[in-house]
Amino acid sequence: MTLFKKIIDRQIPANIVYEDDLCLAFRDISPQAPTHILLIPKQEIRSMADVRSGDQTLLGHMMVRASEIAATEGLSKDGYRLVINTNENGGQSVYHLHIHILGGRALTWPPG
Ligand code: 5GP
Repeated sequence: MTLFKKIIDRQIPANIVYEDDLCLAFRDISPQAPTHILLIPKQEIRSMADVRSGDQTLLGHMMVRASEIAATEGLSKDGYRLVINTNENGGQSVYHLHIHILGGRALTWPPG
């Protein structure tokens, strides 16, 4: 079982900022920006590389929620970044799909 599944199941604590039937959002334990939230599906999808066409509604739902969470956090006007690290080269460390919502400072590009 992944760490994020344990957060969904309330086996380990997290600072939860949003929840509905399909997804959960909580603050990253090691924030890389003033606002750093992780948005995860409750369904266990390992990574973007494991997404299937049947996941379309869920992933669309999550993108809308990500925009709303960013707005609630006051990030919309100045901007923010959504990141989905995928597998080894993408730098993924937890194998439960998650969208990083990063904001509150100017972010550099390109990534390292
Ligand atoms: P990845 O590197 O897989 O894209 O992102 C995993 C993220 O999970 C990292 O930003 C890391 O700080 C965060 N993380 C790891 N363990 C925990 C934890 O126990 N609680 C929370 N809230 N975030 C965690």
